Amino acid sequence: MPLDIVRIPVLNDNYIWLARETASGLVAVVDPAVAAPVLAAAKERGWTITHILNTHHHGDHVGGNMEIKAATGCTIVGPRADRDRIPGIEVELGDGDTWSLGAEEAVVYDVPGHTRGHIAYWFGGAKALFCGDTLFALGCGRLFEGTPAQMWTSLSKLRVLPDDTKVYCAHEYTQSNARFAVTVEPGNAALAARAAAIDAARAKGEPTVPSTLGEEKATNPFLRPDSPLLQKTLGLPANDLVAVFAETRARKDKF
Ligand code: ZN
Ligand code: FE
Repeated sequence: MPLDIVRIPVLNDNYIWLARETASGLVAVVDPAVAAPVLAAAKERGWTITHILNTHHHGDHVGGNMEIKAATGCTIVGPRADRDRIPGIEVELGDGDTWSLGAEEAVVYDVPGHTRGHIAYWFGGAKALFCGDTLFALGCGRLFEGTPAQMWTSLSKLRVLPDDTKVYCAHEYTQSNARFAVTVEPGNAALAARAAAIDAARAKGEPTVPSTLGEEKATNPFLRPDSPLLQKTLGLPANDLVAVFAETRARKDKF
């Protein structure tokens, strides 16, 4: 396995991801909301954190940056477009840049919408997408600093990645997202089955992240504005995907 990825659940519903590249032993932590559980998880495994990868500036994604930096001397990597809001940023990345953790290369995408300077990291060889608060299992981030058109453009960049990509998002929001999703695409059998599986997993206290991008393409309404079922529920025409996306997001905000 080229990237050994560990989930660290923190706060109410955040996931921090620890990723070790097996050939080099380099270890990146993605969006450390806090430091202590991250340092403990690394220590437990005998891993040394060499990099922090931030997706965006929110406190529940960068809160542990400086403490982890102080403890490990790691390098902090984040969005160029938000350089002023990422504590300790040293390596600035933007759309189309590549960045390597040992032998594993990530392509970086600018994915504004949730915040204006959000990025996602796609490790193609490891089939891993670290997308922060842009794409969630059955959901997408709230539009705090962007427009529906921007967010749809951002999600469109992620939607074309391979189906077997694992989606390592930053929150366990899946069950509430599923409750909403079935209301806007009630005829989607794959979605109904997934919603039932999510309820079963959560009843046992199991995580639902990562999912695969293939599952998201088939069931996540925020990746499906071209679905005739969704368009029918919303009463919107098929020729304006941004409008369908915007209405889906607006309904979720009120749900
Ligand atoms: Zn956020
Ligand atoms: Fe967040």
